Amino acid sequence: MFDIVFLGTGASAPSVQRGLTSQVVLRGEHRFLIDAGEGTQRQILKSGLGFKRLDRILVTHGHLDHILGLGGLISTFVRWEMMDKILIAGGKSALDRIRELLFGVVLKGKYPPVEIIFQDLESGLIFEENDFTVTAFPVFHRTPDCFGFVFEVLSDWQLSKFKKDPKNKGKIMDKGLWKWSRHPNYFGEITMWWGIFIISLSEPYGFYSLISPLLITNLIVFYSGIPLLEKRYKNNKNYQKYAKKTPVLVPKFTRN
Ligand SMILES: [Zn+2]
Repeated sequence: MFDIVFLGTGASAPSVQRGLTSQVVLRGEHRFLIDAGEGTQRQILKSGLGFKRLDRILVTHGHLDHILGLGGLISTFVRWEMMDKILIAGGKSALDRIRELLFGVVLKGKYPPVEIIFQDLESGLIFEENDFTVTAFPVFHRTPDCFGFVFEVLSDWQLSKFKKDPKNKGKIMDKGLWKWSRHPNYFGEITMWWGIFIISLSEPYGFYSLISPLLITNLIVFYSGIPLLEKRYKNNKNYQKYAKKTPVLVPKFTRN
């Protein structure tokens, strides 16, 4: 599971209710700040997250409502020397603008006591841990080099690694989470939507959001998800053997 804290969802200019774009994605001890519009520092304080370990910053694009907050934030990091290094990853044009902001205005050419690393993004894997990955993909917007980010957990990651290994050609993935369920990624997806529904029950009319988990569960179980994949492997002997001992969706935990 990832936690996402929305620090700001506004665009162009802040409003009384909404700060400018910024989110923090958390997983274990890992934290990623995505975009930092003006006012991000106060939003971080208000959220109770604090500044610690906020040393990986991903930038979707270089528009000011997504990057101006970096001026104040980096200035604070540098003044307090809160971390050894900060990584800022983004498209080339966004990074050029951030460099101008930081080195032209905030640091004014001074060499900072904190190392600032700029990572010029391209589509593909940016970060890989034992049980999750972060991937960048291109997005179209009014400025060049825009990126979106995909945070993926264990099961998808295990499967893509398995598939990439030429030794596994023609074999069926039956390790890791795939040992307990034939479709652990779909199980995760369905559980997440039911979770969102339960959370939304605390809001007035939240009950109406029941439509989302019902729709997703239906699509995955009866239409596009599981039936298509199961059909593809219908005549695969190895898969049928694997299917005999592994439940289709809801995991059954076994020791070996
Ligand atoms: Zn924009």
